[in-house]
Amino acid sequence: MSATTRDALRAALLYLLLSVVWLGFSGYLLNSFFDSSTERLQWQLINGYAWVVLSAGLIFFARARLLRCLGIDVQLRERLAEREHLRQAAAVFDCTREGVLVTNDKGLIVHVNRAFMDITGYQREEVMGQPPSLFKSGRHPPAFYQAMFGTLSSNDEWSGEIWNRRKSGEIYPQWQTIRILRDDQGQVSQYVAVFSDISAIKNSEHELTHLAHHDPLTDLPNRLLFTDRAEQALASAQTHKRGCALLLIDLDHFKMINDSLGHTMGDQLLKAVADRLRAMFGPGITLARLGGDEFAVLAESCPQLVHAAALAQKILDGLKEPFHLDGNQLFINASVGISLFPGDALSAEQLLHNADSALFKAKSAGRDNYALYTEELTAQAQQRVETAFELRRALEQKELRVYYQPVYDFKTRRLVGVEALVRWEHPQRGLVSPAEFIPIAERTGLIAEIDAWVMREACQQMCEWQQAGVALSFVAVNVSSRLFARRELYQQVAQVLRDTGLDPAYLEIEVTESAVMDDPEVALEQMHRLRELGVRLAIDDFGTGYSSLLRLKRLPVQKLKIDQGFVAGLPWDEDDAAIVRVIIALAQSMGMQVHAEGIEQVEQAVFLVEHDCDLGQGYWFGRPVPAEKLQWKHTPVIR
Ligand code: C2E
Ligand code: MG
Ligand code: MG
Repeated sequence: MSATTRDALRAALLYLLLSVVWLGFSGYLLNSFFDSSTERLQWQLINGYAWVVLSAGLIFFARARLLRCLGIDVQLRERLAEREHLRQAAAVFDCTREGVLVTNDKGLIVHVNRAFMDITGYQREEVMGQPPSLFKSGRHPPAFYQAMFGTLSSNDEWSGEIWNRRKSGEIYPQWQTIRILRDDQGQVSQYVAVFSDISAIKNSEHELTHLAHHDPLTDLPNRLLFTDRAEQALASAQTHKRGCALLLIDLDHFKMINDSLGHTMGDQLLKAVADRLRAMFGPGITLARLGGDEFAVLAESCPQLVHAAALAQKILDGLKEPFHLDGNQLFINASVGISLFPGDALSAEQLLHNADSALFKAKSAGRDNYALYTEELTAQAQQRVETAFELRRALEQKELRVYYQPVYDFKTRRLVGVEALVRWEHPQRGLVSPAEFIPIAERTGLIAEIDAWVMREACQQMCEWQQAGVALSFVAVNVSSRLFARRELYQQVAQVLRDTGLDPAYLEIEVTESAVMDDPEVALEQMHRLRELGVRLAIDDFGTGYSSLLRLKRLPVQKLKIDQGFVAGLPWDEDDAAIVRVIIALAQSMGMQVHAEGIEQVEQAVFLVEHDCDLGQGYWFGRPVPAEKLQWKHTPVIR
């Protein structure tokens, strides 16, 4: 029993005793009033008064003491409960796995708990008096914090996911609740933040998502993820007006491997195939395993079907190399079905469906092959891929030739120059026209090698002619627009000139009008650099490329070559005649030479002479021929 309780009990007993004694004595006094003599009564009255006063005082005192004791006890009880409560809160505060951080009204840290130190790696002393911005990860934009403080000031509470930085520098996600504590006047007194480290949850979430979207055997995206990515890629391709290709790959006779060597070996082979395919592709290509022995490839930028076909060929060739597994050497072929966006389909689902039909076609056509969804495209693409392949071989085997076509000066009627034109001496197909293989060379990137080779041959030939005393004022070479846009062209030309020793003034570079006008700024820079080398520049096929006259005027060009399409109609087609007249006048007004090509008839030559055209080239003067067959002495007779 506590001292206070004892006090209270004692006070209560005293109070009770006094009350009983007072009651008893008062009764006795009252009784004695009725049977007492006057003298006695007087004495009794005095005694009675004294007694009443004394006992009332004692009772009052005892009662006050009792009340005081009882009052004190209640307060103490309250205080004790409060202390217990605080002790519990402190234990919770320190034992909780959640980090707790308290700041004062100025936002400076005044309290942290043990979990805070465990999670953040900071010791208490290191953070006291610091602002919580110390833990900022830099991952959230300022708008995030603005929104957070906005919610805090309106609701006094904010909860959400936030990325912070540990002392080690590692950034991690935490789930945080911040609450504002206000004083009796409603002023902010403290901020309390309670947070838990959710990196583990995030990781397992991530693992779960990974599992849901990947094939466990090969770790490649599965059908779900592939379709999703394909949809996204198609949406972006649509916006950027890009072509995409979806390829379905199916291993030929894979079942045989499973049946004969067992499923473990089958699985190993699938993994090896996945690894090999993965190594073939760079960014912009998504590879997935759709199930069984079926893989899918999405090429996000596939402007031409020939690219898709080349990709399919690359896959087929890449899988042909044997696989070495557990001491076994395994050979496997595949079939590929190709479907193109937007040509064949507009949705990922439809593309997959079409690629599947194409795959079926490839399988029916004997496997180890690819097929496009559209049949005629398959044949075309196959031929182009074959041509590209052969062209590479042609370069190595030196099957390319340079032919020269004479260019005549209308004034002097003399041969003044030649245009170098490439030919392919195909072992089976004979002489192949550049019109057939140049576009393929451009798409496959071989054009750079071809043009460089032609330029070198032409410059060497020109040097030989000069040594033999043939007086030509230029040899013209064509440079593809693909090459013209590259900065290396300038270095390449300089290198050829250095190696062959040809005076740059004798080399004329022809570039098509469209190449110049497609990217006029780059073209302008390129042309200036080439001019610095001292070579001459001509715009080929002029009249077909929508030239801006203003831009044309700025170009450092010495010659315009009228496209043969306009020359063909001369002199009878009025439109052609008018255009040719305008081009001649334009070239003259800009101080350029004008050169007409594709002259097949004397009437055309006469028209051009009459309209003051400077130079002429065409079958009527002479066809492109090997260097040794050029006729130097030939002087064309134009009326
Ligand atoms: P281009 O530069 O406009 O060459 C003129 C084309 O017209 C040549 O065709 C030439 O044989 C042809 N031609 C010349 N006179 C006549 C004629 O009187 N009538 C007709 N119908 N045609 C005539 P080719 O040699 O087949 O070359 C076609 C195009 O291929 C060339 O047009 C040029 O753009 C390109 N090309 C040729 N050689 C090369 C090269 O080494 N590099 C690059 N990048 N392109 C080349
Ligand atoms: Mg040309
Ligand atoms: Mg031309």
